[in-house]
This record gives sequence, structure tokens and C-alpha cells, in this order.
Amino acid sequence: MSVLIVGSVALDDIETPVAKHPDLLGGSASYSAVSASYFSPVNFVGIVGEDFSSAHLDFFRSRNIDLEGLQIVPGKTFRWSGKYHTDMNSRETLSVNLNVFETFSPELPPSYRNAKIVLLANISPELQNHVLDQTTAPRFVIADTMDLWINIAKEELLRLLRRVNMLILNDGEARQLTGESNLIRAGQAIQKLGPAYVALKKGEHGCLLFGPNDFFVCPAYPLADLHDPTGAGDTFAGGVAGYLASQDEGAEISFEQLRQAVAYGSVLASFNVEEFSLERLKTLEFSEVKDRLRSLKAMSSFDVA
Ligand code: AMP
Repeated sequence: MSVLIVGSVALDDIETPVAKHPDLLGGSASYSAVSASYFSPVNFVGIVGEDFSSAHLDFFRSRNIDLEGLQIVPGKTFRWSGKYHTDMNSRETLSVNLNVFETFSPELPPSYRNAKIVLLANISPELQNHVLDQTTAPRFVIADTMDLWINIAKEELLRLLRRVNMLILNDGEARQLTGESNLIRAGQAIQKLGPAYVALKKGEHGCLLFGPNDFFVCPAYPLADLHDPTGAGDTFAGGVAGYLASQDEGAEISFEQLRQAVAYGSVLASFNVEEFSLERLKTLEFSEVKDRLRSLKAMSSFDVA
């Protein structure tokens, strides 16, 4: 079962306290799609300019990512530049050049429209809604978002929330969206806005998964060496969506499947931050993902004596 993923494809310039790298493959859809591809084929919707390297396209194809929905148009690819501070938890956007993104209207090829599992990776809620309008009968729709859209497109985001099954966002965004400083209250408040499920990410402190009747606390894999946090959230979301697509047999998705999906997403994100851009995912084997998941389980489970 393929998963449909729409989002940004970017060329990033990234600066950390120890290194600076220009022209890196980035974008929410890029990270999400490669991460999802560990579990299921991906139908990919996005836009790039003519400056986008064919090596990146070959990499996507090598990961079983279908590019029929990727528009390649005259002009330059979306560019984003970010700088991390000493603790790597805080980052500053240095510049954004929308380029071909400015006039982007995502169009689903006919074969993508009956997607059952859909990931609306981080792009404007208006475009996310436009993609959803073109799907025929999705069973589970996941949306990712960011502080920018809560600031400048809140009404459109609220419209989207009424149409999705799950929202993924980080702790700061959850507080910003709801005005609640307590994260449990914030997660519950988001559920009241529409999504039955909320995955609330807390960076190196793991993730909280809210369901209608259940709650799951997923730890983050403890890492001593972190080189580039860019795309951790997108990698997480892609892992969740890809895993669900691999499990989808027409029945309602269970909370147990969502727990598993979130655990896989966390572990994939922990690999992604070990190197810049998508470099770590280029060499990562599924057996390594599985080993790390086992080790995360071993280090975080306990008995009640
Ligand atoms: P994350 O670290 O998960 O927030 O995602 C980082 C990626 O998001 C980078 O590769 C950027 O190219 C991309 N990005 C940054 N700003 C935006 C935006 N406004 N819309 C879509 N993607 C963006």
C-alpha cells in the first residue's frame, strides 16, 4: 500500500556551532518520503526548479518514491537557510526564498487520488487543504505544521484540523496554537479542534501520543552526537505514515499500530540527526532501525514490583 506525501522540496544552507554546509537536499517532503520508504512505496507531490540536481531525483527513485507528482518547472528550487545555536535545540531562520514555491499548486496524478494513508507534510495549510480536496476516500490523514502557519494562516489551519485524523506538532507549536502552557491540556485542546490523534513532539525528550481513549509516552533515543537536527520532525512524520501504510488492510487503525508507528518515527528521526541533510538515511539499513528500536524498548520499559 503506497502512502501519499505532499510537502516542500528544498535546497538548504545549514549552519551549526561546528560546521556550515550549503546547498543541501532538504524540505519536509524529502525527509518524510525517504523515511516512509523504509515501510511502503511513496507517491510524492512537490515542486522543484530546473536547478534541482538529477542525483537527488535518482536518490528518491532508488528509495521506491514515485515522482509522477513532482513538478519540475523553470526557475529555482525553494531555498531555506537556518542556523542552530549551541544547544542545537533552538534555531533561527536566516532566509527563505520561495522561488518556484510561490506559484505552486499541488496537483495529484489520477493514480494518487485514491490514497488511503496521506501525509500532508509541512507546507501552507491552504495547499494542504487543496491536496485533500483532490483525494477520494482517504482512511487516515496526518498533517504536520509549523509556527509560521499558526502565526499567518490560523483560520486555514483550523479548517484543515477539522479534516484530518492526526496532527503532528512540537511542544512550542502546541502551546502557541492553544494558548495552554501545560502540554497535556494543549494536546487535549487540539483534539477538540478536530484530529482524534495528536503527536506532540518534545525534541530530545520524546513524544506524547494522544488518542480518543488512550495515551502513549514515547521516549527519544538518547544520542550523544547530534550533527544536524534539520528534518527530524519530517523524518518522524514520514516514519509514522509509512508504517501505517504498510499495516493498512482496510480495517480501522488501532492505537497499538499508532504506538508502533510513533516508536519507529522516533527512531528514524534519531538516525537522521546524526549527519547533515539526508546523508544518514542514504546508508541506513532497516536492520539498524530495528536494532535501535529494540534497544529503545529495553532501556525504557520496566516492571512494577
Ligand atoms: P524541520 O527541521 O522538521 O522543521 O524541517 C526542516 C525543513 O523544512 C528544511 O529542510 C526546510 O527546507 C523546510 N522548510 C523550512 N521552512 C519551510 C516552510 N515555510 N515551508 C515548507 N518547508 C519549509
